[in-house]
Amino acid sequence: MSHALFDLSGRTALVTGSSRGLGRAIAEGLARAGARLIVNGVDPARVEAAVAEIRAVGYAVEGSTFDVTDEAGIIEAFTHFDAAGTEIDILVNNAGIQVRKPLIEFSSAEWRKVIETNLTSAFVVGREAAKRMIPRKRGKIINIGSLASELARPTVGPYTAAKGGIKNLTRSMAVEWAANGVQANAIGPGYMLTDMNEALVKNPEFSAWLMSRIPSKRWGRPDELVGAAVFLASTASDYVNGQIIYVDGGMLAAM
Ligand code: NDP
Repeated sequence: MSHALFDLSGRTALVTGSSRGLGRAIAEGLARAGARLIVNGVDPARVEAAVAEIRAVGYAVEGSTFDVTDEAGIIEAFTHFDAAGTEIDILVNNAGIQVRKPLIEFSSAEWRKVIETNLTSAFVVGREAAKRMIPRKRGKIINIGSLASELARPTVGPYTAAKGGIKNLTRSMAVEWAANGVQANAIGPGYMLTDMNEALVKNPEFSAWLMSRIPSKRWGRPDELVGAAVFLASTASDYVNGQIIYVDGGMLAAM
């Protein structure tokens, strides 16, 4: 990734939920393009391990452990960034969870947890980042949506509601903040090989169904999101706003 348009040198990127999975791959991709990283997760040991591994390969990285559903913790983290003179230029709202069960069996508390982790978190972390980006007239926000931003499958009701919300939250951020030099876009991954899908990968019936639906005939690799992420984080996308880029092996096109 050596084209100047995609150069992220001098930029600082906070990626929520980057201790593993898609967030980790996106974070490492942004670092390869030159960004200084802030790795986040809720488990301090996993954040520490990720920071050590990323630093060991020579990238500038620090950790910030906070729960994206804990507003006080988010505000404390941003206060810490302010005190340290750390300006977030790129925010990737990636942290998320999935709970699978029939819609009728979800308790209200379970519903709220999925909505708060996948959707409200992007608003709260996005708002705190934008408060600092807007006066500087510079910032890139990338929200992680999903195929569930567009379509529903059984057993992931609150997740689908949250990811549909991500699509329109991204548009709201874009229309309100564009005039201040802050862009908001989203990435919609298809079915990717991460811990979140561990049970599905092992389920032969699900795999057969999935392969019959994905034109590329395979699961996605986390690193296959890096191109879209670097594009949306860089000056190459300065006139792209409020969009969602699907990285799904063509699955949405085939539905
Ligand atoms: P993983 O379960 O593999 O990783 C989740 C990451 O999010 C971990 O780093 C975890 O941290 C962090 N996290 C979870 N809850 C919180 C929280 N409350 N506060 C802070 N961090 C948290 O998930 P994926 O990498 O698969 O998914 C990442 C994003 O991509 C999610 O938004 C997901 O919905 C979306 N996505 C995933 C797809 C897929 O096929 N995998 C498809 C479409 C979208 P810790 O290690 O501390 O637990």
